[in-house]
Amino acid sequence: MIDCKVDADGIATVTWDMPGRTMNVLNQDSLSAYGATVERVLKDPAVKGVILTSGKADFIAGADLEMLLAADVSDAAQTMEEFSRLQKMFRAMETGGKPFVAAINGTALGGGFEICLACHYRIAAANPKAKVGQPEVKIGLLPGGGGTQRIPRLIGVMNAAPVLLEGKDLPVETAKGMGLIHEIVPAGELLARAKAWLMAPAGEKVVPTFAAKGSPAIDARAVQPWDRPGFKVPGFPGGLVWSPAGVQTFIGGNAMIAGKTWGVYPAPKAIMSCVYEGLQLPFDSALRVETRYFVSLLRDPVAKSMIRTLFFGLQDANKLTRRPKGVAKQEYKRIGIVGAGLMGAGIATVSVQAGLEVVLVDRDQAAADKGKAHIAAELDKLVWRGRMAKDKRDATLARVTATPDYAAFAGCDLVIEAVFENREVKAEVTKRTEAALAPGAIFASNTSTLPITGLAEASARPANFIGLHFFSPVEKMPLVEIIVGRKTSPETLARSLDFVQKIRKTPIVVNDSRGFFTSRVCGAYIGEGHRLLKEGVPAAMIENCARMAGMPVGPLALNDEVAIDLSWKIMDQTRRDAEAAGQKYEGSGTEDMLELMVKKLERFGRKNGKGFYDYPADGKKRLWPDLARHFPVDRDLALDEGLAKREKELEVRKRLLYVQAVDTARCLEANVLTDPQDGDVGSILGLGFAPQTGGAISLIDQVGVAQFVAECDSLAQKYGTQFAVPKLLRDMAAKGQSFYGARASKAAA
Ligand code: NAD
Repeated sequence: MIDCKVDADGIATVTWDMPGRTMNVLNQDSLSAYGATVERVLKDPAVKGVILTSGKADFIAGADLEMLLAADVSDAAQTMEEFSRLQKMFRAMETGGKPFVAAINGTALGGGFEICLACHYRIAAANPKAKVGQPEVKIGLLPGGGGTQRIPRLIGVMNAAPVLLEGKDLPVETAKGMGLIHEIVPAGELLARAKAWLMAPAGEKVVPTFAAKGSPAIDARAVQPWDRPGFKVPGFPGGLVWSPAGVQTFIGGNAMIAGKTWGVYPAPKAIMSCVYEGLQLPFDSALRVETRYFVSLLRDPVAKSMIRTLFFGLQDANKLTRRPKGVAKQEYKRIGIVGAGLMGAGIATVSVQAGLEVVLVDRDQAAADKGKAHIAAELDKLVWRGRMAKDKRDATLARVTATPDYAAFAGCDLVIEAVFENREVKAEVTKRTEAALAPGAIFASNTSTLPITGLAEASARPANFIGLHFFSPVEKMPLVEIIVGRKTSPETLARSLDFVQKIRKTPIVVNDSRGFFTSRVCGAYIGEGHRLLKEGVPAAMIENCARMAGMPVGPLALNDEVAIDLSWKIMDQTRRDAEAAGQKYEGSGTEDMLELMVKKLERFGRKNGKGFYDYPADGKKRLWPDLARHFPVDRDLALDEGLAKREKELEVRKRLLYVQAVDTARCLEANVLTDPQDGDVGSILGLGFAPQTGGAISLIDQVGVAQFVAECDSLAQKYGTQFAVPKLLRDMAAKGQSFYGARASKAAA
């Protein structure tokens, strides 16, 4: 696991190479083996210096998240002691009097980079794929191996902030430019250069600040900057965090975080506190401060939920764990898209970027060319940003054929339909496309609401018919919701999953129903926004409460984006379909509001510059001032600034999240979703559902199923059936079950 060889010159090369894994990770086994090695090399008088490296293609990927997820953190003091051990081990490297060099051969992230920071010198191999950084914040944590203390002491608080708070992976060149890495050398020279640094004649000597009084000076190479006499944190006058410049930095930083996160995430706040408090303390005390904040985050359900969904859930989805077995992998070369509008052109862009040939068909040449022009514009943006060479752009665009001729679909393994959301138009397009396709090819619809089984009635081969629901803007949105119709074959599902993987999107698989999963839950969210507005809650309060609940946009702003007339059309179609089927239309109670906005006021949303917001040509959008005239505000609520308003705010936040969570649970009960994880991954990636909850199903677990049911019952009584809990939840509550209880123990196994 940890190999240690000492050469004739007294240089120990410590190599991480965990058996049975493609990546090294920090877990109990590797850390105790590494700890014993550190102790040995420090004690061994023959060892003069240490090179730390890896036997894998990458250095160390970070902490073993499965271990973190399964860790029993119920006893705070004990957890604190456990995680302090890591800090002590890293500190032993720094204070043992022997120089350590990190020879970073590949990616080193999280704890894997913190171990490098605990080395006295860092050399990276020139490897364009290698990344370093501290991504912990993205899963609700902070760097708990000294990162919040060493990085600002190395490069100053201003430069450390994006590394710690944004969690971006940095190419090694960037890290060197920032001062986090000392040197970059050709990969083949990495170990030799590390040894040469250790073997160079000793220069300056210093008495480290951690040494006992009267201790002799030692080679400065074995002493970290912060352990040298007179060390000052860079960036502030006198290195003082409480200098006016320092205080200003932290005030600005905290304001920026609050602005970006609306106070939803505990991790960025904890990171700021760690840095602010830690930089005022001696280094060892600062590390204890960091451990304390780390443990507090680890004990908070936010981190566990985020790790479960945004790491493991995402990983499972991307590995296609839902792919039916026994179907050969489909290698795609040429695909077709019919409908070169907003969605079709977007799907074409990501497909051609993934190396595919794309046939783009629309009603006439001009419409098809418009779609191709969109692709060209997207590729031009990449060239402009330096992310694509001009000749690659030309070659990529040359793979697109824009035409009104369906015959061009010959030779396509898959055609995606993205024409108007109209059953008759889609049926005609299906027939014309299939006439040009090889018998085994897949036909996929990008419909956002129409049930796939019904659309497949127009198909001569419904087993090859499937839903591939993309999100707008396709270039940015990572999710594809795959909808399996009643007659869709497992083979078609498997091959469609291969396509989604090929274009580097994340799939979830759902069963057929109106609105599937994401559109339906999105509708529930927007619908609750409408109800709140009708009840007299001020529009600004609705929108702000949504942000404070962790949603990326308020329900009214979202409705403007997806178009209010579309909401009206969906409502109208649902009503007509129910009537045609002889069923009673269960209204939402906000039909009159949609009717007013669309039919009387012609406020369709952003697309015509008039919706719940106004969109002045020369400025930022703002809530339509006349909203209150049409939907009078509850005066008490508008004027009150006290406790009642605060309580109302909390209730609005809760309603906006719970209405989505309860509908997601209904999707599980109705077998639209077959796995809670799809609900979680799909809600965060597709709807931006409050990521701090781990997703719409994880939220229910976080609250506790019984508690969630009780709260929904009370909301249903006050506000309506949108909060009516499905039997599934009531049964789970009665049995004391949770969605992920069993999975947490799987991770522990
Ligand atoms: P759009 O109006 O931008 O594009 C539709 C395109 O289809 C137009 O270019 C039109 O000329 C073309 N078209 C219409 N009839 C045709 C025919 N008979 N033959 C060939 N081409 C034809 O619409 P859009 O927003 O791209 O939506 C397309 C589909 O994607 C709809 O089913 C919609 O529900 C779905 N969808 C939209 C979004 C969104 O956010 N806009 C998101 C997910 C799914």
